[in-house]
Amino acid sequence: MIRIHKPKKAPQKLTRDGKQKCQSHCEAYSLNPSAYENNKEKFDFASSIYAHESVKEALIKAQHQKCYLCERIIGKNGDVEHFRPKGAYQQAQGEPLRYPAYYWLAYTWENLYLSCPSCNSRHKKNLFPLRDPNKRATNHSQRITKEIPLFIDCGKENPEDFIGFRAEYAYAIDGNKRGQITIDYLGLNSEDLIESRRQRLNDLRKLNKILIAAIEDPHNQKLQGLANEIKVHLETSLADSAVFAAAARCAIRTKFQESDLI
Ligand SMILES: [Zn+2]
Repeated sequence: MIRIHKPKKAPQKLTRDGKQKCQSHCEAYSLNPSAYENNKEKFDFASSIYAHESVKEALIKAQHQKCYLCERIIGKNGDVEHFRPKGAYQQAQGEPLRYPAYYWLAYTWENLYLSCPSCNSRHKKNLFPLRDPNKRATNHSQRITKEIPLFIDCGKENPEDFIGFRAEYAYAIDGNKRGQITIDYLGLNSEDLIESRRQRLNDLRKLNKILIAAIEDPHNQKLQGLANEIKVHLETSLADSAVFAAAARCAIRTKFQESDLI
């Protein structure tokens, strides 16, 4: 995970149609709160608004075509998903679903991200744990500012302050709880993700070896030319737009000695 900078201005579809739809959800809830709390009534969320092409395109651009959680490149194959779940929520894995969830944030720009199907449907689902569940906002008249979410919100804070990498493995920096919950609940160390990161880091490690060889053999012109190209490539692999940028940054910062730390 890396920090994501979305444009401050929300897509018009959200501020116009989304605002109206949000108002209708809030009115419907106020008329019969218990029906929504018992899940006898459900909100008719409009994916045509929150996942509208203009919203999706803005997210693809802001997230450099990557999933906001795992940093796989997904391009247009991602789903627009809600950081705070819209329909139902769970404080922890295995707990029953609770209703309603953050229905009033279904069309809120800050609450939307592009995610890969694996992160969204296999791991995050309806999970939204809080440090203190008693402070959870359970309807639109309550404030989310009292909540401390245990998931890192990469639109507001820098995940690299909480989650580091030792080789291809994510770990919570200084054992911080929010980083650990984010890793565990969102599957950031799932087998397939570890394997994909390992392949990426192996490629970068091989390139780094050529750089070292070039330093040790400064008179080899061919090697020096190659090293210059590799330097540019390694720098690109650290950019926000690069696949698994957070893991690559840790690997390069530790000069690929990270596996000794595991
Ligand atoms: Zn993902």
